[in-house]
Amino acid sequence: MKERNLCEEASCNNAICCRGSYFAYIYPVKKVLEWFPQATKVNKKLDEQVGIGVYYTTSLFGLAKVRIVGPCPNLSQDDNCLIYDSRPADCEKLAIGSDNCVLFRRAWQGVKSQNLPVIKP
Ligand code: SF4
Ligand code: SF4
Repeated sequence: MKERNLCEEASCNNAICCRGSYFAYIYPVKKVLEWFPQATKVNKKLDEQVGIGVYYTTSLFGLAKVRIVGPCPNLSQDDNCLIYDSRPADCEKLAIGSDNCVLFRRAWQGVKSQNLPVIKP
């Protein structure tokens, strides 16, 4: 039997929170590269990155801050997470109906109302 998808049931069927975000947690670089082998280390601020991709900066003790611009590379064509069982804590802890979920969904309404294209992974 297909697993219930509460996000789809709440009419959020584009995996909105997987289409660009700043991760709140910091992670060992090794873990970041396991999740996102194509991630790019940058020396500039993360908010200066504009091209689609995954970027990280390192700080003390080799921990990394991560930003995803555009669709996450782990998002499948049918909007499922390809690393679901080992996904980062930011993804695991983003609860449906939480403040951050609402912010993502509001931002998405802005994208739709401007008829901006939905970029597929
Ligand atoms: S790792 Fe998975 S859950 Fe996290 S943003 Fe990417 S596709 Fe979404
Ligand atoms: S957690 Fe929220 S923003 Fe993310 S897919 Fe589910 S309903 Fe959409």
